Amino acid sequence: MRKVLLSERIDESGLRLLAESKAEVTISPEPTEEAISSLIADVDALIIRTAGRVTRETIQKAERLKVISRTGGGLNNVDVEAATEYDIVVCGVKGPQDRPVAEHTVSLMGALAKHFFYLDARVRKGNFESRKEYRPVGLTGKRVGLIGLGRIGRLVAEICTKAFRMEVWAYDPFVTAETLASDDIVLKKDMTEVIRTADFLSLHVPLTEQTRGLMGRAQFELMKPGAFFINTSRGEVVQEAALVDALKNKIIAGAGLDVFENEPPDVNNPLFKMQNVIATPHSAALTREVVALLAQGSAENVLNVLGGKPPSYSPNWDRVQAKIGSKPARRQSA
Ligand code: NAD
Repeated sequence: MRKVLLSERIDESGLRLLAESKAEVTISPEPTEEAISSLIADVDALIIRTAGRVTRETIQKAERLKVISRTGGGLNNVDVEAATEYDIVVCGVKGPQDRPVAEHTVSLMGALAKHFFYLDARVRKGNFESRKEYRPVGLTGKRVGLIGLGRIGRLVAEICTKAFRMEVWAYDPFVTAETLASDDIVLKKDMTEVIRTADFLSLHVPLTEQTRGLMGRAQFELMKPGAFFINTSRGEVVQEAALVDALKNKIIAGAGLDVFENEPPDVNNPLFKMQNVIATPHSAALTREVVALLAQGSAENVLNVLGGKPPSYSPNWDRVQAKIGSKPARRQSA
């Protein structure tokens, strides 16, 4: 019988698939590295969500592991290189979450520009005069700056241009005008030009060694004083202390954040004391529909890999197949 370890509970749709395949499922009491590594020795597959990390040390304790499957597309909490060394396929699910994250991003832009939460609190306290305190900012005609123009960035651009008639400028060194094939987006070769001119600056890059800390003090200082900053990508792409200073010193007008440098963030994080910050708990992709699709996709990936078939998305499937095809498999014979 195949043993599958879940770092935490996943949606019923995924659990059902695993049960139908007669896998023996164990749910870790906590999604921490310690808890995962204490349970990993004899499992064939590991499914993880956003919390917890799968490090080289954890991988070394896994004697039968063949697949690490995430209920999302970002695999930065898994040591993919170490997994490849040990012939373990790392995989994720891309696609279902794109549109909800794009919707969340644009909703944050709107909520910031219209000052919804601040005004809502005033109205509830009987302060209808607050209507004279703050002039909402219109979206139409404003410039959105996008750093990263992959799946989610392109959907944000589509919503902004089509629904709100906003202008979109984007920086992505891996995208060319030919591959983009859109007249609605102005591609810029210089990232600072996008940062300097955006009314709404939004990040859509993966977390890599090049993007870690990409937005620091120097970049925030380039932004327009009335501009809003949105991050639904990964918290570590932003140097949070620099963002705090930019907000405190009114270098920018506000920020909408779904992701944080440390997750979960400390309740005393200075960002949470600021009226011009809207925070959500890394929930951009967690619509009811998508949570079910991601759980199902991660379970399907596990069953496919254990059955010798490729998962829907994997950064190391080809490398692992090439390795196990060229030498006696260390782990694929269980
Ligand atoms: P994607 O891989 O489709 O697109 C990322 C784009 O970033 C690519 O076009 C790539 O060329 C570009 N890029 C890479 N390095 C860059 C750099 N240094 N500067 C500028 N551009 C660069 O990814 P995606 O699916 O669009 O996801 C975007 C981000 O959203 C990722 O960080 C992902 O982890 C995150 N995400 C967050 C949530 C959430 O719940 N908040 C959900 C899904 C995805």
